[in-house]
Amino acid sequence: MINIFAEASCNRYVRDECQYCHVYEPLSQISKSDWHLTPEQAQIMADKISQVEIFRELAKREINLTGGEPSQNPHIVEVLKIFKKLTPNVRIHTNLDISSEKSQRWQRLVGIMKLSGRVDFTLYPTVWESRQKPLLVKILELQNELIVNMIFEKVPDLSRQIEILIAFFAGREKKFQPVLSLLEIYRAKLASLLKENPECDENTFLQHMDGVENYSCADSFTFGLNMIPGFYVDKNGERAMNAQPFPKDINLLECTIPRGTIEIITVQQTGEITPCCDVGNLKCQPKFGNLLMNSPAEIMRQVERSRKKIIAGTAKNHQNMNNGKAGEWVEEGVPPYCV
Ligand code: SF4
Repeated sequence: MINIFAEASCNRYVRDECQYCHVYEPLSQISKSDWHLTPEQAQIMADKISQVEIFRELAKREINLTGGEPSQNPHIVEVLKIFKKLTPNVRIHTNLDISSEKSQRWQRLVGIMKLSGRVDFTLYPTVWESRQKPLLVKILELQNELIVNMIFEKVPDLSRQIEILIAFFAGREKKFQPVLSLLEIYRAKLASLLKENPECDENTFLQHMDGVENYSCADSFTFGLNMIPGFYVDKNGERAMNAQPFPKDINLLECTIPRGTIEIITVQQTGEITPCCDVGNLKCQPKFGNLLMNSPAEIMRQVERSRKKIIAGTAKNHQNMNNGKAGEWVEEGVPPYCV
């Protein structure tokens, strides 16, 4: 999968939920004149992606246009058309915090769905009833798949969001019955966890939820849940990997590169390519070059250099953890919690 930041602006930065937003600090450094990814920039990116084999293969799986809030980009439909030439699977990730169907942002989302781009959204309980819910009804009329992102800090938080979705899907068409069944499994699992261990740590949570699917695919409708623990990000953009209250443990990132695969890259607004979903908040120093500025050959050289650094850096992180030096940065610039 390739994540591409199509918009630096987000209309929710001033809201309460966004004090923990991991993209705030990296994106806030982009000047207003560069907020929107232009079709010209998108074309350069698409051309380079198709010339670098690793990226071409990742793009075939999926391109995710994100940000910031991509529906704020006035060119987003044109941008989508350009990336559609690389893969049928282009999706857009929106906050769906949109006031009405008359909004230009909503019109852009409709344009995207009509071109078979998939719209996914992040559930925000504070604007669910007034803004997200009415438009989600419309989205389900226009596309036959959906991923809902849920950011949570505590298990009760996640449980409340599951209840919101159950209330929404209950009583809808028969084709949504499998979605409801999936959500009911989560309801029951979370209820028993809350009863037994309401202040559980991440390990307990993961053990309890082990084996539960996060998607359903039946009756011509595909539905997925993407549950993301919220992390506190301080004013310098440092992400606290042991943010309270959930998860309580240091959260290790299992990097796929030492395991021999690149599964995801992220292209920032500036063209800079990071070798995972790091948008700049993890501060991983080995990068894959710049998709706007570098030639395909330069990018490949950079990929090879960074691959070696990540393999060496994660090995040193293992040693540090075993030697009581967890948390120390290594010279390769690989974050200390990446293994
Ligand atoms: S080492 Fe770098 S590329 Fe790997 S998971 Fe960590 S931040 Fe991402």
